[in-house]
Amino acid sequence: MNTTTQEVSIRRRAPALDVAVVGGGMVGAAVALALARAGFSTALLEARAPTAWHVSDEVDLRVVGLAPSSLALLDDLGVWTSIRDARAGPYAHMHVWDAESGAAIDFDAASEGRDLLGYIVENNLVQWTLWQALEAAGGGSRATSVCGVRRLCPAEVKGFEAREDRIQLQLADGETLAARLLVAADGAASPLRQLAGIGTRGRDYAQRAVVAHVRTERPHENTAWQRFLSSGPLALLPLADGRSSLVWSLPEAAAQRVLALDDQAFLDELGIASDFRLGRIVGSTKRAAFPLKLQLAERYQADRFVLLGDAAHAVHPLAGQGVNLGLRDVTELRDTLVAARIAGRDIGAAHVLRRYARRRRSADTLDALGFDALARIYAWQSPALVAARGFGVRLLDHLAPLKRRLSEHAAGF
Ligand SMILES: Cc1cc2nc3c(=O)[nH]c(=O)nc-3n(C[C@H](O)[C@H](O)[C@H](O)COP(=O)(O)OP(=O)(O)OC[C@H]3O[C@@H](n4cnc5c(N)ncnc54)[C@H](O)[C@@H]3O)c2cc1C
Repeated sequence: MNTTTQEVSIRRRAPALDVAVVGGGMVGAAVALALARAGFSTALLEARAPTAWHVSDEVDLRVVGLAPSSLALLDDLGVWTSIRDARAGPYAHMHVWDAESGAAIDFDAASEGRDLLGYIVENNLVQWTLWQALEAAGGGSRATSVCGVRRLCPAEVKGFEAREDRIQLQLADGETLAARLLVAADGAASPLRQLAGIGTRGRDYAQRAVVAHVRTERPHENTAWQRFLSSGPLALLPLADGRSSLVWSLPEAAAQRVLALDDQAFLDELGIASDFRLGRIVGSTKRAAFPLKLQLAERYQADRFVLLGDAAHAVHPLAGQGVNLGLRDVTELRDTLVAARIAGRDIGAAHVLRRYARRRRSADTLDALGFDALARIYAWQSPALVAARGFGVRLLDHLAPLKRRLSEHAAGF
């Protein structure tokens, strides 16, 4: 029986599962695997099959900086070593500087008694490795004592209805599925969040992040470089192959202009914007751009339903924390459901889900508003405010205990 036939027959039997996860991006795939490994019967429904990752492929334009808390979760799920050995750029330093005042702040792993601050990895490598692990989990192998994960792909949820003991999902192809809990990890636009009637708050930054991988005259020194310009932050993140991954946040019109530049003009302009910190920019891949917004779900919970990942919170990439917050949601949800099971409670009960929703929403809100405050502070242009900002940054750079607290927070400790 091939996979599609197998999956269709599984759908027809439609048993009541413990958890149905909708959205198989990095966060959805991680939560499905985490719950399956914790012994919950789980289904993962994804609209689009992930692209297979091959080492010979060009590095995916979408990369993320994974913090130690995310590395710990991925390690716990048994996938981190494969990701690291496939292609991951470690970084041990971070240098952040202000174009207007010149004030800079440095973070250094060694001075905090750590080997690394994190790794830069490709989104599709993380997603693909998780999907491979899910396939192994669902493929009948009990070697890792993982209980099965049913992957339904392509599958789209058109509606759902919470009942006393379960939630009933209607799929676009007419099939139905029942679970005790529905987990929505379907991204920032989250159709499920809308179906659940959960609103969002936030603001559109009217910015786009222009991304590309660039070759620079000087080596990146395993350092994440970030220059704050009044137009937005520009980051050069160290890739495993010696290049740097650019994330250049710009107002809409400026981003469109930068996307349209010819190759040499782009390299020249980027060299100036990066203050030639890594020397001249000598080569680049194609460019792409992503719209930026702050978006927080008004609540993370409805009847037998929770949100996590970008479906719950979308943040400015200046702190490189979006997926790290999502993976912290995963850990919290898994621990909440395991604790409920041990206590003999229904994992979809409102009082159980409240613990997850309350803890993660308050933590994510604090972080999201902190990143937003940073974006606003670095947009200040009046000379007095720029001077105050410069003073504050220089002071912070010398306040080792506070700087350490900030760094530990970013690491997810
Ligand atoms: C330029 C940029 C740089 C960034 N850098 C960093 C960084 O350095 N560090 C960091 O931590 N974060 C970073 N982020 C944020 C990070 O990329 C996101 O937080 C992360 O990708 C969100 O993952 P997710 O799984 O929650 O959502 P998504 O990746 O959006 O996945 C959602 C999935 O749901 C599926 N789906 C949607 N609707 C349905 C449906 N109805 N039925 C079934 N499936 C559905 C989609 O096909 C998709 O696969 C960055 C973001 C940007 C834009």
